[in-house]
Amino acid sequence: MISGYAAMGKNQPLVPWQYKSRPLGPNDIEIKIDHCGICGSDIHTIDSGWGPTQYPVIVGHEIVGRVVAKGAEVQDHAIGDLVGVGAQVFSCQKPDCKNCRRGHDVQCSHAVYTYNKPYPDGERSKGGYADAVRVDANYAFSIPTAIDPREAAPLLCAGITVFTPMLHYKFKTGDRVGIVGIGGLGHLAVQFAKAFGVSVTAFTTSETKREECVKLGATQVVNLRDAEQSKTASQSLDYLIVTTNSPHTDWAQLISFMDVYGLIVLLAAPETELKLKPLSFLANNVGIVGSLIGGIKEVRAMLDFAAEHNVRPWIETLPMDQCNEGIQRVRDGKVRYRVVLSN
Ligand SMILES: [Zn+2]
Ligand SMILES: [Zn+2]
Repeated sequence: MISGYAAMGKNQPLVPWQYKSRPLGPNDIEIKIDHCGICGSDIHTIDSGWGPTQYPVIVGHEIVGRVVAKGAEVQDHAIGDLVGVGAQVFSCQKPDCKNCRRGHDVQCSHAVYTYNKPYPDGERSKGGYADAVRVDANYAFSIPTAIDPREAAPLLCAGITVFTPMLHYKFKTGDRVGIVGIGGLGHLAVQFAKAFGVSVTAFTTSETKREECVKLGATQVVNLRDAEQSKTASQSLDYLIVTTNSPHTDWAQLISFMDVYGLIVLLAAPETELKLKPLSFLANNVGIVGSLIGGIKEVRAMLDFAAEHNVRPWIETLPMDQCNEGIQRVRDGKVRYRVVLSN
């Protein structure tokens, strides 16, 4: 049996709960969990904010721990290895799968995300607020020795989410990049972008984060609530990475920061619809794209890049049994910048 903390219904606190682990398949491993970050997605899921959640649900998809069992066909990992798991735990990896074949395993039609999603056998995945988890070995990533295991946890969802578009759009020296929302994702986005050699403008609504943005590597900091500051950033960016979940985002304001042919990359999913005036982005040929986590290749590249360039989350740690306190701190916007729960 695996012991964890589950939400038994919408808006309810997490309670201790046990479940029988799925069978260990030939390409599966079992991980004894040491650490798990708290991601905004966990809270959307606990709240059924993105649609109905099937309860009970154990959330958590920034998992770090040790391999304690492995299937007969697993070659990449040995018992005792330190590994991390992000927001995905399975893709088919079949040669006739158009998306897996092209390295778009995130978009595999058989993809299983780390919690609240059905496996092909019908069982639903369960996440990392627990003492163990079983996953497909392809989705357990070796953690570079340079990275503290606690700090590795947030890299596996927040980190890969912000890194993937930077890799895909080939960020380079001279590019002008804005980051909106300096939180769990945004504080890593500033660091990764800086490490790609770009000029970073951090956009925040919290004046208290100004100094921290500079420490993280921002060249400029713009308070979105200050009309004068916002005006100075007009038409100044090639890319804008949007990590905020706020339903009150002023899209016309964000679009105004984009230079001709600039690209806005949406990484967070607010529970409300986006309100966009078509002409506002037509006028300067501005593009808006989304990006969802990252595939096997990208996660490996991200961990190496973070190790090499010293990109690390700023974390607060709590024991796993205080997961409800951690979640409340996230809801209250008090975290600087990621909570990591530890067993
Ligand atoms: Zn996440
Ligand atoms: Zn596939």
